[in-house]
Amino acid sequence: MLEIRNLEVAYGSIKALHGISLKVPEKSIVTLIGGNGAGKSTTLRTISGLVKARSGQVIYDGQDITNMPPHEIVGRHLCHVPEGRMVFANLTVLENLKMGAYLRKDKVGIAEDIEYSFNVFPRLKERISQHAGTLSGGEQQMLAIARALMSKPRCLMLDEPSLGIAPILVRAIFKQIVAINQERGITILLVEQNANLALGISHYGYVLETGKVLLEDDAKTLRQNPQVREAYLGD
Ligand code: ATP
Repeated sequence: MLEIRNLEVAYGSIKALHGISLKVPEKSIVTLIGGNGAGKSTTLRTISGLVKARSGQVIYDGQDITNMPPHEIVGRHLCHVPEGRMVFANLTVLENLKMGAYLRKDKVGIAEDIEYSFNVFPRLKERISQHAGTLSGGEQQMLAIARALMSKPRCLMLDEPSLGIAPILVRAIFKQIVAINQERGITILLVEQNANLALGISHYGYVLETGKVLLEDDAKTLRQNPQVREAYLGD
């Protein structure tokens, strides 16, 4: 469904990606793990058109979408939840969800998807009229994912959903990422520092190091790989 081929990206004279290639099959969960500065966020930003590729290709649904403007990419239902969540702090939970549906006109469908988001994250329903800026970090992350669901994604890219969040909420969020994948068939490309948790819910994983793919394998096999265990699982 999503494939990147030999992607090279630089910020000025600093190369961030040195020709990485990866595949995300339809309806799968694929994780990118790697240390700080490995290029994980840059990979997602390039796929969603926020950063320009110097060379290489991003193929989505068999079409070349490399360097397309971000709104056209969202319009193809390829959706990015960036690191740091970025909810609209001064809008309520409900208003944030409605903003996620700004490209849609189907009122009934929008109402159904708001209900679905509340089923996925009941905490959001309890806080429907609360300003997003006053939610906890974990609740804001739930809202960011729920808002992305409102754009009817076929593929959802999540950047560090566990960052700075209490462990109990992290587990709730990861459980719901699996539910979204299974119930709605949404393909997921996940970037995570918490490699154990991420590989635990993924089908396939890639390890990035200094802008290159160091290792790739089934998530289960990768989780048992001694190199991965030592470097990323704290063994
Ligand atoms: P982290 O987990 O620390 O966010 P990451 O794997 O997501 O790391 P990136 O944020 O993609 O890594 O960064 C890859 C490289 O590109 C790093 O060396 C970083 O310093 C550099 N970089 C990222 N964004 C910019 C920018 N806007 N301007 C200049 N350099 C950047």
